[in-house]
Amino acid sequence: MLTHLITAEQCASCRLCCNFHRSSAWETPALTPELAERLRSRGLPLDSRPDGSITFALRFPEDAPEDFCANCPALDSGFGCTLPRELRPVECRLWPLRLMHTPVGNLGLGLYDACPALSPEVREQVIRESTSAMLPALRRMANEQPCIVRPFHPAYSIIWEER
Ligand code: SF4
Ligand code: SF4
Repeated sequence: MLTHLITAEQCASCRLCCNFHRSSAWETPALTPELAERLRSRGLPLDSRPDGSITFALRFPEDAPEDFCANCPALDSGFGCTLPRELRPVECRLWPLRLMHTPVGNLGLGLYDACPALSPEVREQVIRESTSAMLPALRRMANEQPCIVRPFHPAYSIIWEER
């Protein structure tokens, strides 16, 4: 949704969103059943979470420490995400934004503060667009796929909150 502000090239050289610590494996993107079917047929390993949502399976060695990192199986370490845009999970298309519960439990929109593509100007523009034109689509996404609304995380600034 923000490719006019943060380019595929910037993300391909960063890949922060596509690499998961063992302790943060819960953050892998949720897939709708339809998308999961299409990704499975491309040979990507998938897994289900305890809440029933489907996500990518990460490969960690048995004795890997909590800070051991694994790539999303759709990531090519030289090229970046190998999925065409229409096959990317909605959470990936939103980055560096994330729908989340605010500390008081409202629906909120968080902006990942450590995203290196967020210059002060880009940050301002992301906030402006996501809290105006994008809001109806974001609300609809939260209703249609509640599991993409994540718990609050202090690495994000809440830039919009439903009251
Ligand atoms: S942190 Fe920002 S630049 Fe890095 S992959 Fe995510 S959205 Fe792209
Ligand atoms: S699907 Fe693509 S953008 Fe999303 S986490 Fe995997 S490699 Fe990254």
